[in-house]
Amino acid sequence: MVETIYQFLFFGWRPFLEILMLWFVIYHILLFFEGTRAIQVLRGIIILLFAFFLSQKLGLDVLDWLLTKLFAISVIAILIIFHPEIREGLARLGQHHLFTATLKEEELDNILKQIGKATENLCKSKIGALIAIENNDPLTTYIESGVLLDSRVSPELIETIFTPNSLLHDGGIIIQNGKIIAAGCIFPLTLNQELSRVFGTRHRAALGLSEESDAIIIIVSEERHDMSLVYRSRLYRDLSSEEMFLKIKEFMRLSKELKR
Ligand code: ATP
Ligand code: MG
Repeated sequence: MVETIYQFLFFGWRPFLEILMLWFVIYHILLFFEGTRAIQVLRGIIILLFAFFLSQKLGLDVLDWLLTKLFAISVIAILIIFHPEIREGLARLGQHHLFTATLKEEELDNILKQIGKATENLCKSKIGALIAIENNDPLTTYIESGVLLDSRVSPELIETIFTPNSLLHDGGIIIQNGKIIAAGCIFPLTLNQELSRVFGTRHRAALGLSEESDAIIIIVSEERHDMSLVYRSRLYRDLSSEEMFLKIKEFMRLSKELKR
């Protein structure tokens, strides 16, 4: 009896620790893949694993052989196809880029007002712009597609970047932790067929990025001279800077709640 208690006290906790660690790892893998194209692949892998398990139990040798070979190839294929995601995932480990978490409320308001001032001026000057504000999901891959700046936000700098013929005017800028982390960034274009032809690549790039992340994206249209916001695949058109400010804060609150 005493020995049983002794054994439980010293060794019985191990399975609990293992379950806890496995739960932690699986939960974070699912969280990481959620909302990305990799989730479909993950589903496919689970179906294949199930088929593999079944073929072994039923003694279906040909299927078993085929699936074993397929797994060996698919590990390499997955590493090649998803290398940006894997790299981003590793970079994300232990890293928190929550825009709102590291900034005080007044600092955040001030930065949003500076961005609003810049977009209003760009609108008046009929200059197009694309600004993504990083939220919970890191935009590392897209930051790397542009030129690193790591500069303080100011209307002058944003307007200078988007001035036609400036070296960085093409593409979008990314705001991370209240700073302009990079400019000239290339965002993924949405493949949404239902989107009106009226919208060109700038709008498609904003929507594409919002399908891949929870970033909030501001668009200044060169053609229509108006400001729009994109969040979670939805486009909010023709906003004033006050409306834009309030919406951005609302979306940030939403993302924070969703993360919880
Ligand atoms: P606008 O209303 O301002 O005309 P639009 O949606 O019609 O916008 P285009 O006229 O095609 O779009 O805008 C082209 C500009 O969009 C490019 O000069 C470039 O700065 C930006 N752009 C295009 N593709 C991307 C991309 N993949 N990532 C980031 N920016 C992009
Ligand atoms: Mg256009």
